[in-house]
Amino acid sequence: MKKLMVLALCIMLVTALVPVMAETADGAGGRRDEGKIIVLATGGTIAGVGEAGKTAGYIPGVLTAEELLFAVPQLAEAAPIEAIQICNVNSDDITAEVWLTLANKINELADDPDVKGFVITHGTDTMEETAYFLNLTVKTNKPVVLTGAMRPATSISADGPMNLYEAVCVAASDEAVGKGVLIVFSDRIFAARSVTKTSTYNVMAISAGEMGAIGVVRDKMVFMYESPSKKHTTETEFDITGLSALPKVSILYFSVDADPELLRFSAEHADGLVIAGAGAGEFSKEWIEVINGLSIPVVISSRIDDGVITKDNLLCGNTVAANNLSPQKAAILLRLALTGDASQEYLERLFLQY
Ligand code: ASP
Repeated sequence: MKKLMVLALCIMLVTALVPVMAETADGAGGRRDEGKIIVLATGGTIAGVGEAGKTAGYIPGVLTAEELLFAVPQLAEAAPIEAIQICNVNSDDITAEVWLTLANKINELADDPDVKGFVITHGTDTMEETAYFLNLTVKTNKPVVLTGAMRPATSISADGPMNLYEAVCVAASDEAVGKGVLIVFSDRIFAARSVTKTSTYNVMAISAGEMGAIGVVRDKMVFMYESPSKKHTTETEFDITGLSALPKVSILYFSVDADPELLRFSAEHADGLVIAGAGAGEFSKEWIEVINGLSIPVVISSRIDDGVITKDNLLCGNTVAANNLSPQKAAILLRLALTGDASQEYLERLFLQY
């Protein structure tokens, strides 16, 4: 029954969008000289389909890139667009392989003078991780903007169409050039390094804690107020050319009575560890003892959203402070770092610079 409803909704959506398709193709012609925006679609709730009107219990990653574009005819006024389907998944199924495909694709297309910028449609669960990975690995000053939605395309007042429209406007704007990888969500613009998902249900689900948004977008108007100061894109030292996988890093979350055996097990199955410690990266005496004995790189972050961890906070001399990177972002930097030198000095420098 549910499958039939989903199918019917898909057919209704595609039928409704056919006239829009023709309109978009006609209307876009006059703006080719301004350079096109490449939309790379990966799935998520923005491409999700469920029971008409409902916000929960839907299937993410159903609609294709073209179907997403046809639903927003106003995109034709914003910029000429070319769509590429990279995958169509729930973002919890995004892998390092998808990250490498995205980064290589952007690096390849960025040299084309007809390409003005990139928009990636993505599930919100791991959007911040993909954004930070790309922020460290794409080699272009052209805007790269991720967006998604909290409500599936079939819900009442779906947020995907507006987010997509605003993301394209930002990607087409000169204001976004050289700002590193961005996330546009609910009218706000965030830098990849500080952005994070902060709500499981609300349409204002993307935020950046004490670092805040760096700009806002109102219809087609893009206002940038800040620039990221940490190294990104063309300034980074990471070269992913030829890589088909990334080193494995596991994240261990500390809580009262957390089992230190998990550390031993994880250390045997990973190339590096990130600890999500309590407070300023702290953990129990039992954990200190085990971590002191580990011979793989260990980075200390916090389970607290805001704040910084410095070298002086570290409880174990063989570890590296994540500064103010979240555990999931510290894991990305460590994975990239481990494609090169694994020395403590090298890691300490990277965690201060990126
Ligand atoms: N689970 C979905 C995803 O990350 C949630 C979303 O897109 O909002 O793909």
